[in-house]
Amino acid sequence: MNSPTHQLTISPLGEYHGVQFLLARDELTHPELPGNKWRKLKHNLQEADRLGLNTLLTFGGAYSNHLAAVAAAGRLLGRRTVGFVRGDELATRLLNPTLARARADGMELRFLDRETYRRKHEPEFLAALLHDTGPAYVLPEGGSNALALPGCAELARELLTRTNFDVLAVACGTGGTLAGLLTGLDGQRRALGLAALKGAGFLRADINQLTQQATGRTYTNWELNTDYHGGGYARLGPELRQFIVDFRQRHGILLDPIYTGKLLCGLLNLAAKGHFERGSTVLAIHTGGLQAWVGFGGEPG
Ligand SMILES: *Cc1c(COP(=O)(O)O)cnc(C)c1O
Repeated sequence: MNSPTHQLTISPLGEYHGVQFLLARDELTHPELPGNKWRKLKHNLQEADRLGLNTLLTFGGAYSNHLAAVAAAGRLLGRRTVGFVRGDELATRLLNPTLARARADGMELRFLDRETYRRKHEPEFLAALLHDTGPAYVLPEGGSNALALPGCAELARELLTRTNFDVLAVACGTGGTLAGLLTGLDGQRRALGLAALKGAGFLRADINQLTQQATGRTYTNWELNTDYHGGGYARLGPELRQFIVDFRQRHGILLDPIYTGKLLCGLLNLAAKGHFERGSTVLAIHTGGLQAWVGFGGEPG
């Protein structure tokens, strides 16, 4: 279980409105298992081994980075994987590239209609699924549970020892990654999460609950900003697309369409509004997710 294979690069992005920006390139740490989805999986896989469970069962949407990561981990590490996919209409269509790749990686895909999919947290429903698949280690949608945190904490500790920063910034979906980073920072520096979905205020409680479960603590050195969802989850408007194209031209770094594009766009906007102290350093994390471009007509620019 030895991803990352490459040393983590930290790219300077330059100064904006008196604030230094750095980007931790977690999207480059492994050719097939990059970014936060691997970080969240790592300790869960160890737990599955400890429990003697050789099958991983999980859930996701048609373009899910998490499904893609679980499928790749299954192939690379020799585990059986079963993915329950939201949307039974997908079963009769040609598989999109994310799902085709997951199947090629050996993942057994099972399609659930949207109403059934919503029951994925119900214990009786899970028991019925497990009855079908046989014994399996169950990972939640997005991969965020208490054991997702220590892998992200390792990243935060590495960043603390590698470079100086005042604010560690990350995009949030379920908040599991930010929660893990908080446990790794252990109260040092500040952290800032930018929510990629609309109406995500509930994440504050989720994040506190996750750190509480994992370490028995909650932290106060962080904030969640919910202003940069760009119209909602997986919405890529023309302005955000143009930002991503310009960012790639300027820095030679491709951001993903769902999370890190919104993160960098939001951070630079916050800097312009004077949100960060002049002379401070903001370290953003590129959490990966580049496979998701297949759902947006391919890479831009
Ligand atoms: C899933 C994902 C996130 C969000 O992670 P959470 O732990 O769910 O908050 C951020 N960036 C990328 C690229 C992702 O795939």
